[in-house]
Amino acid sequence: MAAARMRDPMPAQLIVQKFGGSSVGDAERIRRVAQRIARARASGAELVVIVSAMGDTTDVLLALAAGITPDPDPRELDMLLATGEHQSATLVSMALHALGVKAISLTGAQAGITTDEAHGRARIANVEPRRVRRELDAGNVVIVAGFQGQRIGSDADGGPGETTTLGRGGSDTTAVALAAALRADRCQIFTDVRGIFTADPRMVPDARQLNVIGYEEMLELAQQGAQVMQVRAVELGWINDVEIEVLSSFEDAPGTLIREDPLVEQRNKVRGLAHDRNVAKVTLLAVPDRPGIARAVFGPLADAGINVDMIVQNVGHDGATDISFTVPRVELARAERVLEPVVEEMGARGLTTDPTVAKVSIVGAGLHNAPGYAARMFGTLADAGVNIEMISTSEVRITCVIEESRLASALDALHGAFELEKPDPVDAEAALPRAG
Ligand code: ASP
Ligand code: MG
Repeated sequence: MAAARMRDPMPAQLIVQKFGGSSVGDAERIRRVAQRIARARASGAELVVIVSAMGDTTDVLLALAAGITPDPDPRELDMLLATGEHQSATLVSMALHALGVKAISLTGAQAGITTDEAHGRARIANVEPRRVRRELDAGNVVIVAGFQGQRIGSDADGGPGETTTLGRGGSDTTAVALAAALRADRCQIFTDVRGIFTADPRMVPDARQLNVIGYEEMLELAQQGAQVMQVRAVELGWINDVEIEVLSSFEDAPGTLIREDPLVEQRNKVRGLAHDRNVAKVTLLAVPDRPGIARAVFGPLADAGINVDMIVQNVGHDGATDISFTVPRVELARAERVLEPVVEEMGARGLTTDPTVAKVSIVGAGLHNAPGYAARMFGTLADAGVNIEMISTSEVRITCVIEESRLASALDALHGAFELEKPDPVDAEAALPRAG
């Protein structure tokens, strides 16, 4: 292959490919991924391949730790979790060797990824991919274990070189960060869906695949519960202007491009729906209406690392007011434990919780200068008989909290009302030549 490349007058393209856990779930799938990599390699491209842990390995490792102690040391937990991606990286490399393709697997640290020290949710501080470059120059396909890096820091605080992990779904972030650092020609995220859809196709049968979606819209969709890509990866792509292609690892079909979208003005203003079931609603009843109360409630929640979202404080009556907000459902029990003494101390009437709510959002970059969309969303939900419990908005999104049992009807009604099943008025693929 090296000889073939030397005859080629064009410089080789550098492609970063990421394969998610389901794509490398067993030996057979790993062999299929290796064949796909080998085909791309045969076309002369230089390849850096990021892998997630096989199947649900990360969950299995977390359960193993939980079987030992409810409160594992974060440093040891990261050492444990990183092994999931080490496994898959080595196996993909071996599968390539079996096909006669030169390849080498590297840990995140060997690939030059350094992070801050937040074990379990570290953020990438820097990427120095010298070793990756050297292995590419030696003719290798470079397989990098996703979801991990090594701490920067001084010897005083435990020393540099400690293994960190990047939070659930972090292999996406590894891929985008390496694509940026290597100035790759393309960054392909292979997954178990075909691309980004106007809504989750398992919930809305009419959902349509998008050819292109802007970074800002994708970021909102990911934040509001679309689980195709890690939020941080989209952010990094946006900041570094990395064009990301999301596509299926099981079929040969065009995916969705995440990129700056100059045609946004000409598109349907609502680009997609997101929903999230990992939501619970908390209401503090008859809280005294005086300065310092919000701090007394949200300070302890923040200290406990609980993510609070969608805060609504009602108008006070007779010196008291209700405060409602949402937390991730998985954190509800912890939130209750934190809040019980707070309620007692400030003399509120009590605390109620509802774990059976869900969030539904409409997202589109055109929303901020388009009046009437909020009213249309609320009207659509009303016509579908769906009660709205809370509302929040951003520049490019409107979100309603509703009863979880009404989620499917809500999504279906909104998808129809905003005509999301209709093809984009502009054919992006025709107007925007793909990079590379
Ligand atoms: N294996 C990790 C997880 O399951 C990272 C990833 O899949 O991207 O969260
Ligand atoms: Mg995963």
